Amino acid sequence: MIYCNLHLVDKTFTVHRNKAGQNEKRNLDVSTGNDTREYPCVSCHTNCCKEYVIFVNAHDVYRLSIGLGLDPENFLDIYGAKDFDLGIKVKEGLVDLALKQKNDACTFLVESKDVFRCTVNEFKPGVCKSYPFQMKDGKLTQMSDKMCPADWNTREFETMMKTHLKKDDDEWKFYHDLILEWNKKHWMRKPLSAFLRFILYQVAHSVPFDSDTALSQ
Ligand code: SF4
Ligand code: SF4
Repeated sequence: MIYCNLHLVDKTFTVHRNKAGQNEKRNLDVSTGNDTREYPCVSCHTNCCKEYVIFVNAHDVYRLSIGLGLDPENFLDIYGAKDFDLGIKVKEGLVDLALKQKNDACTFLVESKDVFRCTVNEFKPGVCKSYPFQMKDGKLTQMSDKMCPADWNTREFETMMKTHLKKDDDEWKFYHDLILEWNKKHWMRKPLSAFLRFILYQVAHSVPFDSDTALSQ
């Protein structure tokens, strides 16, 4: 789930609204489904899934595509690249890849009976797992971003986050190397669909960055 606990633990991605339309806090034991513990995301409107465009790397695309059995075009949109050197040079232009949006939120966020839920919990992008933490000068810190209203217990997640953030960092470096290789070879002569096939192939034939398989998190 979120490393927002939405993302880490979510079997129940857990913002509930009462009949007055207000969010209710609930305590939830994620292993049993019983209420025993309070998570910050429970009292939040899942701002992070609504307000951000979720940019993805090759491993994110691979995990979602394989996990959902979908071609990447089904869940990706292209955005104009912010960085000339690391933008993908395809026929469509100089672009970055991000998850599609639906109803002003991530396409994978659903609301049913007043419960918001991430429907791709097992395959969600690395950035969703990390948020709202980051590694800075070798230390785990909560991002100063005011989008997240929760005051997280950093110590509680430190070991888990360090492992994840190191892997996430490796995956972004891998992706940037692929983009540089692609741009050098093809330079806007091939369509995005060819780039997507290229990155899926490269991830499938790469050595995992940790002992997990490419699909496990
Ligand atoms: S904004 Fe913060 S509290 Fe709200 S769902 Fe995201 S990580 Fe959780
Ligand atoms: S994949 Fe979408 S719904 Fe799931 S955690 Fe990320 S932003 Fe939220």
